[in-house]
Amino acid sequence: SEPLHIVGAGMAGSEAAWQAAELGVKVVLHEMRPAVATFAHKSGDFAEMVCSNSFRSDDDEQNAVGLLHWEMRAAGGLIMTSADAHRLPAGGALAVDRELFARTTTETLRAHPNISVSYEEIDALPSSGHWIFATGPLTSPALAEAIMAETGAEALAFFDAIAPIVHFDSIDMSRAWMQSRYDKGETEAERTAYLNCPLDRAIYEAFIDALLAAEKAEFREGETAGYFDGCLPIEVMAERGRDTLRFGPMKPIGLTNPHAPDNKPYAVVQLRRDNALGTLYNMVGFQTKMKYGAQADVFRMIPGLENARFARLGGIHRNTFLNSPRLLDGQMRLRSRPGIRFAGQITGVEGYVESAAMGLVAGRMAAAEMLGRELAPPPPTTASGALITHITGGAEARSFQPMNVNFGLFPPVPEIRGGRRGRRERYRAYTDRAKADWQGWLHHAAHEPAPVTD
Ligand code: FAD
Repeated sequence: SEPLHIVGAGMAGSEAAWQAAELGVKVVLHEMRPAVATFAHKSGDFAEMVCSNSFRSDDDEQNAVGLLHWEMRAAGGLIMTSADAHRLPAGGALAVDRELFARTTTETLRAHPNISVSYEEIDALPSSGHWIFATGPLTSPALAEAIMAETGAEALAFFDAIAPIVHFDSIDMSRAWMQSRYDKGETEAERTAYLNCPLDRAIYEAFIDALLAAEKAEFREGETAGYFDGCLPIEVMAERGRDTLRFGPMKPIGLTNPHAPDNKPYAVVQLRRDNALGTLYNMVGFQTKMKYGAQADVFRMIPGLENARFARLGGIHRNTFLNSPRLLDGQMRLRSRPGIRFAGQITGVEGYVESAAMGLVAGRMAAAEMLGRELAPPPPTTASGALITHITGGAEARSFQPMNVNFGLFPPVPEIRGGRRGRRERYRAYTDRAKADWQGWLHHAAHEPAPVTD
């Protein structure tokens, strides 16, 4: 019978191949390394960890990524089995010996009777058969072209541009103020949508000097092509002219500083509320390649942000990812070509663990389909299900950006009688519910009757 083709033997492709093969489906795993390299991979092994050797927290009661570990272990996942076999001491984190981990994963897959490996680059989208594309953040350029030809250029991104996010309670409101430009907005929510920090000329000049002098992370070879569309680092804007920022993202027009109404600011940094609770503000447009330490120093020069605590610092990374909410159905299939599934980081999840989890589900879904069954996606109350729900429908397509797993993606747990739950209790409620629902999903999948054929 026809095999399942899986392209890319990274975190997602390796797990997908294992899951489908274990369900009895023949798999051909296509991997371009070692013949074709990426700037980050160093070996020809499958599931190579390109940077840190950690799968992050292993706490399956208080942490959403630890819960993903638990779900994958319960489903007999190969990535977790290999990781557990080569675990290194690292407190509550799951760190591994990356070489042994990758070698075990490679050898296990190569030895599986249902899996054959084809070392080749796939550079086109096939017109028939069952396929899973799991080619990751560094998808080869030829394949990216082919995907773009199918999806349209605006639906495939090559970079994520991340602006810093500040905790509101660390902003000095005796210097900053809330106001939307030209006082647009009527409701309380609209009036608190923007927060402004004023710079006089001397501070602006000092800020530009610091920005230009700050230590930057280097783009690696092959990493820069294409990063100019819409996500220019602020230091690159500053290099183009000392006034570029003052006439661009830091323009002071349409704003009046209530702390000094007669003193027009020379420039303004405007932050946008980043969550419904109003606890986080986003420095929109301030994506940067400055090193983390330098970023904090430079941004704390901004009046009002002297003591800022950052929920997230800025960054720009090479990352090929689809606008999944627009392109994929709930089965992770391309709406326009249902024979093709996507899995892993290219679907807009972020990280080794999240990518492996998406591979696990995609592999099971594809296998079920080939065996004449349909496997419903895991419930959104599970960590895997919350991620799939987010990328295939929950997230705004317009501003879709890659996502790590977190409890913010889960449907809220009901409050218990007699008041609000504490955080530990709430996280425990999320993980207890997820485990029960994940077991239910696995059990249901295993006991689904095979279709009657005549
Ligand atoms: P990958 O693991 O990248 O696997 C994709 C595979 O597809 C590769 O083996 C590639 O060779 C192959 N491939 C690509 N194109 C083709 C083609 N056309 N034909 C055949 N094969 C192809 N995550 C973390 O959790 N922690 C980190 O510290 C971290 N650091 C990172 C640093 C860098 C520089 C990068 C780029 C990523 C980092 N990530 C990190 C993200 C992490 O690498 C991914 O989340 C994870 O590897 C994605 O899994 P995947 O299976 O989707 O892709």
